[in-house]
Amino acid sequence: MRGWYAGKSQAERREMLQNRDPERVRAYDRARGGMRGRKPSEKQNRARRKVHLARKVGDLVPEPCLFCDDLQVVAHHHDYDLPLEVTWLCRHHHGRVHADEARAAAAGIVHA
Ligand SMILES: [Zn+2]
Ligand SMILES: [Zn+2]
Repeated sequence: MRGWYAGKSQAERREMLQNRDPERVRAYDRARGGMRGRKPSEKQNRARRKVHLARKVGDLVPEPCLFCDDLQVVAHHHDYDLPLEVTWLCRHHHGRVHADEARAAAAGIVHA
């Protein structure tokens, strides 16, 4: 036998919480939105813009893919707070690295 709350929808539970402490719910939503939003975060966009600019002026020079030496590479960020600290990866290996990170995130290891 499940608790009565199990039958409540997410929205109903949220509404109950919101009536109790609206500011806290808003903060929670903000934090969650920043971490799992489908759109790239502002930090991510800023890092990409910096890479784009640095490549233009030659501060950042693409290197062959770390894994397979493919020359068609993208800049992969480990930390968006360090926009010019990138690893060069081909499309294939970039996809693999992100799949690994998604698994790590699911396991509770947060991707910066
Ligand atoms: Zn590669
Ligand atoms: Zn990446």
